[in-house]
Amino acid sequence: MNPASLPARHLTPVTAYIGVGSNLADPVHQVTSALDSLGSFPGTRLIARSHLYRSPPFGHPDQPDFINAVAHIETALDPETLLSELLRLEQAHGRVRLFANGPRTLDLDILMYGTECLQNAHLTLPHPRLAQRSFVLLPWLDVAPETLVIPGQGTIARLLSNCPGPMALPL
Ligand code: ADP
Ligand code: MG
Repeated sequence: MNPASLPARHLTPVTAYIGVGSNLADPVHQVTSALDSLGSFPGTRLIARSHLYRSPPFGHPDQPDFINAVAHIETALDPETLLSELLRLEQAHGRVRLFANGPRTLDLDILMYGTECLQNAHLTLPHPRLAQRSFVLLPWLDVAPETLVIPGQGTIARLLSNCPGPMALPL
């Protein structure tokens, strides 16, 4: 393909943050192995990975604790293609969608993609529920600059100070 015909984002990698979670089938292994795989996506580099955090289940208490982490990547993929790669990786880890907030072998969410704000049938950016989730915000602080502003929402530290529910704990 002629490089001149590619959109600019294919030529200049975009900074994105990916939330990773699991509470089934050896969650520490699921999360660690998923973090390893992110850098194998086409045109994508894993820049940093957070510590792992443990948190009680959200929504449905009768399921195992979750293990969560956040990855900082740089990618030449557009957001829709990045989401397809993430959903494919979830499938490869045996993800079955039982019900909302139910147990899962692997959950991969695009928290933020550059400064892009969009909402369509498949994808909302920034991720619509990140402000309520300490298990996303705490690991995100490990890999994002303190000054990072989530479009329309302020810094991660500010969101964390207003975040309801129990705190995630580092492993
Ligand atoms: P949740 O992560 O909120 O528990 P799921 O993992 O079951 O929910 O995701 C359901 C759908 O959410 C996905 O199939 C995807 O199309 C959609 N979605 C919308 N925005 C995003 C995003 N920013 N990151 C990942 N998935 C998203
Ligand atoms: Mg998800």
